[in-house]
Amino acid sequence: MNIILLGPPGAGKGTQAKQIVDLVSIPQISTGDMLRVAVNKETKLGLEAKQFMDNGQLVPDSVVIGLVKERLFESDCDNGFMLDGFPRTVKQAETLDSVLKEASKHIDYVILLDVDDNEIVERITGRRTCPKCGAIYHLKYNKPPAEDLCNCGHKGLSHRADDNKETVINRLDAYHKQTSPLSDYYREFNLLKTIKGTGKSPVQVFEEIKELFSL
Ligand code: ADP
Ligand code: ADP
Ligand code: ZN
Repeated sequence: MNIILLGPPGAGKGTQAKQIVDLVSIPQISTGDMLRVAVNKETKLGLEAKQFMDNGQLVPDSVVIGLVKERLFESDCDNGFMLDGFPRTVKQAETLDSVLKEASKHIDYVILLDVDDNEIVERITGRRTCPKCGAIYHLKYNKPPAEDLCNCGHKGLSHRADDNKETVINRLDAYHKQTSPLSDYYREFNLLKTIKGTGKSPVQVFEEIKELFSL
C-alpha cells in the first residue's frame, strides 16, 4: 500500500502517520523529519534547507525530490510506504508519479487531513516532540504524562524553532498557494479521500482513516 498524507502544517499528519504505519507495517517517510536531521548534522543540503525552514517557506523542489527519490528505493519500501509532508507542490507530485512509474509502482491512496486555519495556529504553537522516540504531544490536546516528560521515559521535550506564530502564517500561506492545488491534482486521478479534522480528536480522525481502509 503506497499512501500520501496531505494537509496543512499541524493538521495531524505525523500523529496519524505513526498510527497508520503501526497498523499496516510500512515505513513513514517524513520529508520534514529528514530535512531536520540534515539541518542538525549541518550537511550541505541541511544548510541550504535551513534558511527556508526558519522562514516557513518551502525548501526548493530539487532539494526535497532528491531526498525522497533515494529513500523510496530502500528495501523497506518494497511493500509500501506512507509519505508524510511530500509532495507539497505540483512539481513534486509530477516527479513522484514519473519516478514511481519507472519502477512500476503507483500511489493507492491520498488522504487529505483538512483543518481550518484558526485551529492550526493553536495546534502548532502547543506542539512538543520527544527528541528520543519522536512521540508528538500537545500541551492542551495530547498532554505528555508529566511536564516535559515523554511516555518513553525521556525527560526534555522539544519545541521546534519554526513552531511559532509568525512562521505559521508563512507556512499556511505556502500551503494555500503551493500545496492545496494538489487536492485537485489527485482528485482528477480519483485518489483523493478528504477527512475533515477540525474539532475532531486524534482518535476520531484515526477511526475515520481506518474506515477508509476498511480496517
Ligand atoms: P503535522 O504533522 O500535520 O504537522 P502533527 O501530527 O505534528 O501535525 O500535529 C500538530 C499538533 O497538533 C501536535 O501538537 C499534535 O499533538 C496536535 N494534534 C494532532 N491531531 C490533533 C487533533 N485531532 N486535535 C487536536 N490536536 C491535534
Ligand atoms: P509541518 O507539517 O508542521 O508543516 P514539516 O515537518 O512537514 O512540518 O515541514 C517543516 C518544514 O520543512 C516546512 O515548513 C518546509 O520548509 C520543509 N519541508 C518539509 N517537507 C517539504 C517538501 N515536501 N517540500 C518543501 N519543503 C518541505
Ligand atoms: Zn519519547
